Amino acid sequence: MLTTRFETVSDAVLESQPCPEGQALWGLVEGDTVLELRSSPFEGVEVSGRKYLLSEVHLLAPVCPSKIVAIGFNYEGHIREMGYPFPQEPLIFLKAPSSVVGQNAAILLPPESERVDFEGELAIVIGCKCRRIRREHAREVIFGYTVLNDVTARDLQKKDGQFSRAKSFDSFCPVGPWIQTDLEPAAVRVMTRVNGETRQDDHTGTMLFDPYYLVEYVSAAMTLNPGDLIATGTPSGVGPLRPGDEVVVEVEGIGVLANSVEREVP
Ligand code: MG
Repeated sequence: MLTTRFETVSDAVLESQPCPEGQALWGLVEGDTVLELRSSPFEGVEVSGRKYLLSEVHLLAPVCPSKIVAIGFNYEGHIREMGYPFPQEPLIFLKAPSSVVGQNAAILLPPESERVDFEGELAIVIGCKCRRIRREHAREVIFGYTVLNDVTARDLQKKDGQFSRAKSFDSFCPVGPWIQTDLEPAAVRVMTRVNGETRQDDHTGTMLFDPYYLVEYVSAAMTLNPGDLIATGTPSGVGPLRPGDEVVVEVEGIGVLANSVEREVP
């Protein structure tokens, strides 16, 4: 099952009366159609009866997370390229929820940074309020998985000595295009292309800490809420984005998250 959030645009409705244009709705994606849901999928998946063509709605980020927990060094290749020692346990940091944008939104390069990198990642979507979940029960609290680009001001990450600012500029967390609830995350490909050129291509089997363990580790520290995201780390091949670039992150079994890149004009 694929769930998402979207806004209607005029004349997009296929059946029944359309919702007012620009209203954020939850939906179920089936082929080229979006079936509107009565509420967020975390409260139950019940269709309203309205249908829209997928090509004629504006997709939004498929979650409104209370927090985005990200994992710093989780793929061997990325740890080596960054020149860091192998972690004994997951390194976690937070991205501001205000950094979230959706499919086709522009990533804005802020004037404070001279080097903004893409980081293609698989993200866990939490389905219920939970705390101290053991690894063997992680599946019960995972609603599904989505695609996330952990955009990073690399120069500020090094300069600041911690990650908060570098990871949290507005637009630095593209998420989407939807949540896949039926994914087995043990060995799926994670790929990033910039202007059509492959820059990252690895699979989740090379993670140091697997998604179920990450749920145990993160939930030992903090309560997780429906829609919260755990970004599971990026493979090797990270690199800079420039104005005019088109960056695409694809996770096998989920879909393709595409975003443009622009200079932010303050
Ligand atoms: Mg990352």
